[in-house]
Amino acid sequence: MADLIRSVRGMNDFLPAQSALWRRIEGAAHACFARYGYGEIRTPILERTELFRRQLGEHTDLVEKEMYTFVDALNGESLTLRPEATVPTMRALLERGVAARGKKQRVYYVGPMFRHERPQQGRYRQFHQIGAEAAGYAGPLADVEQVLMCRRLWEELGIAGKLRLKVNNLGDAEERRSHREALVSYFRDRQDELDEGARRRIETNPLRLLDSKDAQVRAIAEDAPKLEEHLGEESRAIFAEFESGLARQSVACERSHTLVRGLDYYCYAVYEWVFDARGKELTLCGGGRYDGLAGQIGGHPLPGCGFAIGMERLAELVVRATEEEPEQGVAECEVFVVYGKACSGEALALAEALRSAGICAAMDTDPSSFKSMMRKADASGAPCAAILGEDEAAAKEVSVKPLRGQGEQFRIAQDKAAQKLKEMLDSGP
Ligand code: ATP
Ligand code: MG
Repeated sequence: MADLIRSVRGMNDFLPAQSALWRRIEGAAHACFARYGYGEIRTPILERTELFRRQLGEHTDLVEKEMYTFVDALNGESLTLRPEATVPTMRALLERGVAARGKKQRVYYVGPMFRHERPQQGRYRQFHQIGAEAAGYAGPLADVEQVLMCRRLWEELGIAGKLRLKVNNLGDAEERRSHREALVSYFRDRQDELDEGARRRIETNPLRLLDSKDAQVRAIAEDAPKLEEHLGEESRAIFAEFESGLARQSVACERSHTLVRGLDYYCYAVYEWVFDARGKELTLCGGGRYDGLAGQIGGHPLPGCGFAIGMERLAELVVRATEEEPEQGVAECEVFVVYGKACSGEALALAEALRSAGICAAMDTDPSSFKSMMRKADASGAPCAAILGEDEAAAKEVSVKPLRGQGEQFRIAQDKAAQKLKEMLDSGP
């Protein structure tokens, strides 16, 4: 194994048992979002680098440190593996003309994202998100509805009790600019207490200091000027409508003034669904409004809001909630076909007939002894084995041997086997 070429750090493989769990989660999301009139969008994994650099913000952690950016050696173009999908989604809607002026569009996506972060629990370099975007919707009812979509998904997956909703008001661009100026002057006055990185942040992205992971910076940020003090009447009213909309639907939430979201494009109501992971608070889902984004991409002005859920964290929560170990025993098949060496052709035909009847059938396609095949049938977890020895083959019959619970072995004509087995399986154990 010493020479085995290993996977890229922070990037995972999904084995069948885990994929089954993921398919269940994705299935729940597809069904849930469809009920709200959202259709699925799939955009490329690669985009032009400038799309993200400009829209996410030059001085965000994401753009500064986390993007997988490379030059395409074949034509010298700078490309980036998408680190999030809101920007590509808006790009696609504008470029394809589906979000034309005044037109509205609701879409959701499921897929991999890439960020060059330090891998740890709940943080990977290739991870996956499920997210939704409502383009053309001015809110705040659309925002409230998206929170309800999330809540419904949590309920379907049995994890609603583990999540808390935090909300904040980011105001409009002008209000944020005036707050930013106040922040810069506050932190400049206390820059001796900050380290090199934080000091640089003052000039590039002071908002980021407010939700810094460094305890010292956090302590200083406690007394920093609050965005709240810079908000005008209109954005307060919009946010109040968002909050009362949530209350009306019995969604509990807490106001968090330090919730700023990492990206430049957010405005007005933003939120995060958080949970406790071994004493640490982790965010499962982040969302909010981004009215300026379409204009920044180069399209016409178009309001919008959306959210993104981290699927690795979601899967972890679902596993925890249902105590369901992903690697634990789902049967590999429903019928395991065991056969004598001379009957491999008939056995394969039988397996095909079973599959045509909708049965999940498996057989050992590397023929081994009868005993060894029976052992494999047992290990597969299948409820029964279909045995095709020379005897059976000569009589054009099959022996059916129940492997779980009671039930006697019996013989049946080959051309009746599929139907009989289907009935047995459908009637349960
Ligand atoms: P964090 O503060 O945890 O870094 P973020 O603000 O960077 O989160 P968003 O860009 O809002 O995250 O992405 C939405 C969700 O995607 C997160 O809440 C999280 O569940 C998930 N996510 C983000 N980055 C990663 C990662 N590197 N690995 C796994 N999941 C991630
Ligand atoms: Mg991050």
